[in-house]
Amino acid sequence: MGEQINGTSQDGKEILTVVSISNSGSSVSAAVCVTPPNARVSEQMALVILSERKTLSEHACKQAGIGRFKDKIIGTTLPHLVEHLAIDLLVERTLNAIRKSAKEQAYAGSVNHRIASIDARDTLSRIPPVSGHTRWLDKGLGTMNITLTFAAQDPEVVSEVITRAVARVNRLAIQQEFR
Ligand SMILES: [Zn+2]
Repeated sequence: MGEQINGTSQDGKEILTVVSISNSGSSVSAAVCVTPPNARVSEQMALVILSERKTLSEHACKQAGIGRFKDKIIGTTLPHLVEHLAIDLLVERTLNAIRKSAKEQAYAGSVNHRIASIDARDTLSRIPPVSGHTRWLDKGLGTMNITLTFAAQDPEVVSEVITRAVARVNRLAIQQEFR
């Protein structure tokens, strides 16, 4: 009893593995393999990740009808969670960069009042749109394709963010003792 869970499953394999990742300038696609193929987001996993990242709840999600991600997370595929988590990380990263540059400009005294008084809504409206789509490549093999499409992001950064999201979902799934 009480066996320590430290980020790898008992046989040392990951639940999610990135098979390939490619970009076409305005989109990045990652093929991922889920083992076992029928792994889904459990209620416990949803609770943990939604409390860790509050903004995830409010994501718009078009999977199985238009709605919010919080109403769709339980029972969805792990790559679909990776998609939303990657978008969340990307938006957070962009927001931080905008805030940092606004602060620096304000500090430099260039356009101090206008920029320094930037509010959250204004900042949000300046984020270039990012959208995602996750679809099965082969249900039997457990392979899915995650695509993020964006207006103004560095594809290398988007790829890195997807890799980080995969790692987070792997830890989450393993901690919840998927196997
Ligand atoms: Zn979705």
